[in-house]
Amino acid sequence: MKVLKFGGTSVGSVENINNVKNIINDGEQKIIVLSAMSGTTNALVKITNCIVNNEPNIAIELINDLHIQYFETVDALISNKKLNKETKAYVNNVFDVLVQYTYGSYSTQLERKIVSQGELLSTFIFDIYLRQEGIRSTLLPALSFMRIDKTNEPDFFYIKQNFKTVIKNAAEATIYITQGFICIDEHGEVSNLQRGGSDYTATLIGAAIKAEEVQIWTDIDGMHNNDPRFVEHTKPISNLSYEEAAELAYFGAKILHPQTVTPVKADGIPVRLKNTMNPDAHGTLITGNYTENGIKAIAAKDNITAIKIKSGRMLQSHGFLKKVFEIFEVFETPIDMITTSEVAISLTIDDDRSLDKIVTELEKFALIDIDKNQSIVCLVGHSIVHHQDTFKLFQILQDVKIRMISYGGSNNNISLLVPTYEKKATLERLQDYIFKCLA
Ligand code: ADP
Ligand code: ASP
Ligand code: MG
Repeated sequence: MKVLKFGGTSVGSVENINNVKNIINDGEQKIIVLSAMSGTTNALVKITNCIVNNEPNIAIELINDLHIQYFETVDALISNKKLNKETKAYVNNVFDVLVQYTYGSYSTQLERKIVSQGELLSTFIFDIYLRQEGIRSTLLPALSFMRIDKTNEPDFFYIKQNFKTVIKNAAEATIYITQGFICIDEHGEVSNLQRGGSDYTATLIGAAIKAEEVQIWTDIDGMHNNDPRFVEHTKPISNLSYEEAAELAYFGAKILHPQTVTPVKADGIPVRLKNTMNPDAHGTLITGNYTENGIKAIAAKDNITAIKIKSGRMLQSHGFLKKVFEIFEVFETPIDMITTSEVAISLTIDDDRSLDKIVTELEKFALIDIDKNQSIVCLVGHSIVHHQDTFKLFQILQDVKIRMISYGGSNNNISLLVPTYEKKATLERLQDYIFKCLA
């Protein structure tokens, strides 16, 4: 069986929902994972922020706008009177509950309940729509099988066992629909797999059932060789290895949640990226195979903080690095890039929640400089470190202010740290030097 995930834009309008129906309606049994309609999760986050800031009136306004938008979608999609009424009753209930929440006080738990409503709404509406269109569908509630453990990682054993039970006990259908993104935590409370997490839901289910293939349907024809939000004339890449895809996703290619390929890699389950608005385009196929060497794509990740740790006697004092790393471990803060010299080390983090505490600890034995608002620009491709064209990368050094370089840590990745205001220019220059020269 295949698992097909449709993202926010794919279910974000009546026209696109109709495209989704046409894509899945080939008579083959399959599992469909849906995101919230585009804009919904952002609106739900805004509503939560209003609760934090004690602004119930603004929250109510946002809720009402969203409510109207959902009624319009339901009316445009579901003409059958009985089904229309049933759907609106569900939608009304969701929005009534949201209104009640706005008068409560903020908690993380409340936030998670609020942001989970987007996927619950989209899947409920889509299930009814398919039924109206005469397609046999069944809704599989994600909260009955998708779980994270106390480290916030998916509890794969639980997911596998429970998904199999849930699908076995569900009404037999051609299309099984479930919610992306949402899950329960170790205490059984509603939680989620972080923003963009529906991709991860799809591959976790794919791995649980050893799917024939996982397809991620979105609003672009696959992984491009550079970030299309910042660079013009980017091109889709037809094939990527799991490692290449994982590096690009981790370093900012928004098309994939950073963990997407992790669950399916070991079983060699292919992941195909496709465009809902242009289903005939090849897209990108991600497998265990490397097709060619050299730089394949560039991605960038923002909100990076660089920390320079200076100690006059670093090399002489063995155990210095251990001392540094232990501090990051204590505050559960992962390090992305690291470079060293005789007197200093520089490293980067993207989670700066414990930055002040980390700095306090580091200052006990070193001088610390902090640079915020940095971006990691990452070049990815099999064996790029050894490739004859990689030298072109260094031609940009004369034009761009580079703060750190990580070269050779892995054969598939070269990372540059630049101030975020230089990111767009860096991506554009790399695009010119690398892909235009090679074309
Ligand atoms: P969905 O809602 O379907 O999950 P996302 O917005 O999460 O879609 O991901 C698709 C978007 O990712 C594209 O519209 C594009 O702007 C952005 N993106 C960033 N980097 C890349 C890249 N290298 N290749 C393709 N898309 C990218
Ligand atoms: N709806 C969630 C988000 O906007 C999850 C997803 O779209 O994958 O982040
Ligand atoms: Mg996404």
